[in-house]
Formats: sequence, C-alpha cells, structure tokens
Amino acid sequence: MRITGAVLEEIGRQRPYAESAPITVSELELTAPGPTEVLVKVEAAGLCHSDLSVVDGNRPRPVPMLLGHEAAGLVVSTGDEVTDLAEGERVTMAFLPRCGECDGCRTDGRLPCERGTASNTAGTLLHGSRHLDRDGETVQHHLGVSGFATYAVVDRASLVKIGNDVPPEIAAVLGCAVLTGGGALLNAVDRAEGESVMVVGLGGVGISALLCAIAEAKGPVIAVDALPEKLELARDLGADEVYTPTEVVEQGIRASHTLECAGHPRAFETAFAATKPGGRTVTVGLPHPEAKSEVSPAVITGEARTIIGSYLGSAVPQRDIPTFADWWRSGKLPIEKLISRTIRLDQINDAMDELADGKAVRQVILFN
Ligand SMILES: [Zn+2]
Ligand SMILES: [Zn+2]
Repeated sequence: MRITGAVLEEIGRQRPYAESAPITVSELELTAPGPTEVLVKVEAAGLCHSDLSVVDGNRPRPVPMLLGHEAAGLVVSTGDEVTDLAEGERVTMAFLPRCGECDGCRTDGRLPCERGTASNTAGTLLHGSRHLDRDGETVQHHLGVSGFATYAVVDRASLVKIGNDVPPEIAAVLGCAVLTGGGALLNAVDRAEGESVMVVGLGGVGISALLCAIAEAKGPVIAVDALPEKLELARDLGADEVYTPTEVVEQGIRASHTLECAGHPRAFETAFAATKPGGRTVTVGLPHPEAKSEVSPAVITGEARTIIGSYLGSAVPQRDIPTFADWWRSGKLPIEKLISRTIRLDQINDAMDELADGKAVRQVILFN
C-alpha cells in the first residue's frame, strides 16, 4: 500500500535543519505484514532525543531510514500467527522488541533482547524482514517501528495492547519517554518509603521520571537542569525542590538516589556527587560513545555506593507499559503534561531544531 513517511536522507547535515532538510516527507510502498507482524494505522508519534541522535550522527544508522520509534495507532490487519490482536484495537509501539527466548530476554528487563538489538541495528523488523520501498530503493526501519508515517508494519513483539480509552498521544509517549524514565525509577532505583530521589536532566525521559517519582509518592523529589524554564516546569509539575547543576554542587544538595537522564558525562558527575551514602546512581541517558567521566573509587567504597546502568528503563514493555497506563487512568500520572506541542508530519525538520535547542519536552506528530 502507499504511505507517507518521514525519511532521513543523510546523517550529519548542518543546522538549522529547517534549512538543510535532512528529512523528507516521502511517498513509499509498504508491503503486507508477515506471519508474526501487524499493520498499524499510526495516530500519533513522539519526537525523542534518540531520533535526533540519528539525524546528527551521534547514533549512526543506515540511511535512508524512515524515522520514529515512539508511536501509537490502531490495528488494521494481522499476520496468520498473531491471534491476540483485533482490528481497531489501539496499540503502543515498543522500540526494543523482546523475542522471549534469548539470554537477554531471561534477565527480567535488565538486559535488552539480543535478537531485537541485532534487528534494530540492521534496520529490519524482529525476524529480519523489510517492508519499505521508495521507487525501487530499500528504506530502513527505525528500531522496528518507523512510526513517522501514516501506516507501519511492525512485529507483534513490538506492540503492547493499551486500551482504546487511552488517547493516541498519551499511548505514543508511553512507548519511549515514560517507559524509559519511569521504568528506570521502578526497576533500577526501586526506592523505599521515605527515600528522596533526584532527577538530573529534564528532557522527555527526565520529566517522565520526575512525574513517575511524584506519582510514587514515597518521598521528596528533586529536579535538576541548567535551563531555568525546565526548573519552572518541574516546580509546576510538583517537584519538591529544583536546582541548577551549579547550585547542587555549591550547596551540597544530595538525595537518597539519583537518576542521570541527560546523557552527558557532566550530568553523570553531578548525579554521582549528589547521591547519598548507600544510594544508587542510575544512568538512563546515553552519552556519546567516546564520552568519559571521572568518579572516585574511594567514594564508591567509602560510601557503599552503587552505580547502575539502566537501558530503556530496564523495562519489559509488555509488563511495564500497562502499569503506567493504569497510573495515568487513576489520575496520578499526568502524562499529557509531557507534551509541549503537537505538530504535523511536514514540520519534522523544524521540530528537530526545537529538540536540538533543548526547548521541547515532547513534540508529538498527530496523523488524521
Ligand atoms: Zn526514544
Ligand atoms: Zn530476546
């Protein structure tokens, strides 16, 4: 079938992207789903820093690639082996499918699926298939989703049934921002009643972690970011204390546990320095592969500290996304507050500029 999608043509073009236009809105041919796959009519898709990392070359991927890994939509049709999804059901797309059989899948979310990681790197769906063609040229899938398009074919393992009462834009951001930030809080921080938590870096993932920490209602929640408008937002959302990284250092602010959500070595150092004795410093952001940090082994030993890496929130999408959807239903997790603006697909290059400037929390493309 013919679809319209946002295709990244080349990595590393100069900013502003609104002028260099690394992404073109193209007409493509989408082939029918295989036995384990599902055709989804995309309703909403969020822009995430990981999309920008492909555009700016921090996470090189094969191009041309149809971007988008945080999306939701309605099931249109399913392959023969998919028996638990019906036409018209709303699904959230999860960008790291779990095959359920490899060593990674046996770690309860601690490690990603090996097969899913390999297929994501190769630009295919979980079982190696490709479905995107533009005038005879193969277009790569992005993280098994390619959600910046009117329709997507994805593996069943990349979908979570969400319930049609959850609006599309909420269902979309559950798939990456909320799963990553909230998952890290539940699965890696795992704080006890009364303990404080500090979130360093207030992008989509950081704000999600902050909202989930407030929803947990276990103890004080501290927000840290260099931008005053982000701190203002955090205060509005219900953070108990807000600081710039400089203030954290100068005032010696510390929390029981800290989450590094900026993906920057300096942010990691801020989070590590601000973790109390016995506490956990959880890294959620993904810095440049060559970035280095300095930490003191003496502090790790002397203060009985733990540093935990949490990839994709150490989450199992099928288990954790429904949990956060229930928190949203109960009113304690106002996910809509993450969404700073909704846009059309043809505004994508401009939206990448907004993201690169650090202004946007979550921009969501709506498809009608
Ligand atoms: Zn993402
Ligand atoms: Zn697996």
